[in-house]
Amino acid sequence: MNKYLNQLVQLSTIDQEIDDFGPRIEKIERALNGALDTKQEAQLKLDELVTQTKEAQLKRSQHELHLAELSDKIKDIAKKVGAIKSEKEQKALQLEEEICKEQCDFSNEEIERLDKIIESKNGYLEEAKAHFEAAEQKVEAAKVAIASEMESIDKERASVYAKKEQLVGQMSQKILTFYEKIRKWAKNTAVVPVRKQACYGCFMRINDKTYAAVLKGEDIVTCPHCGRILYKEAEAV
Ligand SMILES: [Zn+2]
Repeated sequence: MNKYLNQLVQLSTIDQEIDDFGPRIEKIERALNGALDTKQEAQLKLDELVTQTKEAQLKRSQHELHLAELSDKIKDIAKKVGAIKSEKEQKALQLEEEICKEQCDFSNEEIERLDKIIESKNGYLEEAKAHFEAAEQKVEAAKVAIASEMESIDKERASVYAKKEQLVGQMSQKILTFYEKIRKWAKNTAVVPVRKQACYGCFMRINDKTYAAVLKGEDIVTCPHCGRILYKEAEAV
């Protein structure tokens, strides 16, 4: 194969390797972002449960306070009963006592209901905490994995760039400019093989004359349809 063509094939392979780093890094970042999203969801759920439990506990203590007040009130009423002077007064005290007792019943029922809520929320809280901790661990693991993967990608990238620099240093500026011009639109398919007499860039059949020139490999031949640089792959060993 023509030396210049050979260099172009090599350069195109190196450029492909360089472009492949992008999706690899994106994939790693996606994995971390996914773990971070899960952690945030777990955090929100946990916060929500903590708030709901606190609210129920606050309501419960308000009822406890109210019960203590009612108990004092009932004691007062009992004291007043001893000093009753009229039937009217007695009825008024009886009514007051009944109201107090009703309020006591209501608060006791509420405390019972809130206790059930607190108990069930506590169960969910344990679960939510476990979820959050697991999510947190996944984030940490993802961070460690990313650090080591990025390190190896950086090493690979440095070696690929060194390879490219060395190759480009040996190439003619004219050919490089020609290649870069095609690469602008053809991206990673600026240099493509010919298989079954078809260009592997545009997949169209090339004429016999061009095909013969490609097989010879003496000149740099471009596809008559799309303009990509063509080459005949080395026979598989
Ligand atoms: Zn083509």
